[in-house]
Amino acid sequence: METNLLINGESVAGSGKPIAVENPFTEQTLETVGSASPEQLDAAFDAAREASKAWAAMPAWERGELLHEVAARLRKSTDELAEILTAEGGKPLIENRDEIGWVAAAFDYYAEIGRDSAGRVIPPIEASQLAMVVKEPLGVVGCIVPWNYPLLLLAWKLAPALAAGNSIVAKPSEMTPLSTLALAPILEVLPKGVVNLVCGDGEVGAALASDERVDCVAFTGSVETGKAVAHACIDRVARINLEMGGKDPFIVCADVAGGIEVAARGGAWAAFLNAGQVCTSAERFYVAEELYDDYLQAFADHAKTLKLGDPRASDTDLGPMASAVQREKVTAQVEAAVASGAELVCGGGRGGHETGHFFEPAVVTGAAADTALLSEETFGPVAPIVPVKNLDEAIDLANSTRFGLGANIYTQDLKTIFRCMREIKAGTVWFNDPLTDNDAGPFGGFKQSGLGRELGREGLEAFQETKHIHIESELERKEWWYPYSEYSASE
Ligand code: NAD
Repeated sequence: METNLLINGESVAGSGKPIAVENPFTEQTLETVGSASPEQLDAAFDAAREASKAWAAMPAWERGELLHEVAARLRKSTDELAEILTAEGGKPLIENRDEIGWVAAAFDYYAEIGRDSAGRVIPPIEASQLAMVVKEPLGVVGCIVPWNYPLLLLAWKLAPALAAGNSIVAKPSEMTPLSTLALAPILEVLPKGVVNLVCGDGEVGAALASDERVDCVAFTGSVETGKAVAHACIDRVARINLEMGGKDPFIVCADVAGGIEVAARGGAWAAFLNAGQVCTSAERFYVAEELYDDYLQAFADHAKTLKLGDPRASDTDLGPMASAVQREKVTAQVEAAVASGAELVCGGGRGGHETGHFFEPAVVTGAAADTALLSEETFGPVAPIVPVKNLDEAIDLANSTRFGLGANIYTQDLKTIFRCMREIKAGTVWFNDPLTDNDAGPFGGFKQSGLGRELGREGLEAFQETKHIHIESELERKEWWYPYSEYSASE
């Protein structure tokens, strides 16, 4: 597997701290990757700055053609990239093949959106004038990405930032750098220095966030790291786009009595997809008390049928979690809830696997609202299910955390849909179809879940500076200039 960094179009071995990349299924080291040394980071920032000039000046349709070519090459490399994603992250191959499809789609989408508009014409102050709002690239965009969707979350930054005419220095998570480094031959179609790929842990991330040559940092990761990135950027008034944690609610309304099985299966998928390691995983279930017993039964019955195993096998529903640390965090949260009175209805074990960071999908009842399991991000395959008296209580509980990334509601009632879409504080509200992303639909969080949006037109504008242009065609003295003795404002 590729372990070299990509700096100024050259493939170079990282000469900083070595990072051992683990396969979470075998618990063996897959590869050892050298982090970028301070000198290599310097070279990457300089290369990106230099390359940004010609890239910004290239006509948008030409950049678009190159981005379409990147998309085509990604699709051709689906098998290879999906296998690397599975080896380093433990996500089932079937999900990783989907991930590559979504990555390619993001490149195609922004190839077109980027050449569709460069701003707008606004009404001028006088008839002899032309006034415009022009969108320009920011310069160099630093991308810092987590381990759960390494290529998708990179693409949501890379594709729009490139389409807008920016150059890039990107850093994958130290846990999953291999799929990102494998992009080098695909990115070869772009001029050298336009995309630079560096590796490293938080130290390299912090260097990227604080360097004056980086005009904008696009970050996805935890709230705590995101705040550190924000501080580093605000000190130098660099632009930021932050996608952070979530604690998404999943509401099942009383009117879906006839669709309990569907709502249970949808809920299980939303809670357990990628072993619950999705920023928009459903992590709190609020179920109308009339349906609670039947819903819990259907949910737990379904959870027990899910197959844990080798993430390369086509019949595996859940692979291992990404790391032992992540598994321990989830275990600790469930144990703390149980210690304070909750009941583990099913799951929570290793599913008979001695090797690999497996965590059987768990269903928990009776957890108190103030336990971490119901108020802080879990990021694991655990579904706490809570009965609610009515929609008022469900909405209040849904809005009760510091997060506001996504929310799911199962209902067929129009008035309930209207109330939830207006009152739930979340960046995406899904009704009856959990977790479906749309390249054209902005993605991001309310409250501490984020700042700014990815995807959609907003996702392009995140990487653009706005300039107001005012053109007067006449060479004439304005009547409101000095001397004021000749000007009466009230006239
Ligand atoms: P993390 O915050 O630990 O790390 C994210 C990235 O930041 C990594 O590349 C890491 O090396 C880097 N980093 C660490 N310290 C840094 C520092 N001081 N300065 C700059 N960069 C630094 O997150 P993680 O554990 O990799 O990912 C899981 C988290 O990501 C979860 O909280 C999850 O909710 C969040 N996430 C959010 C979204 C979203 O779109 N909102 C999507 C996926 C994951």
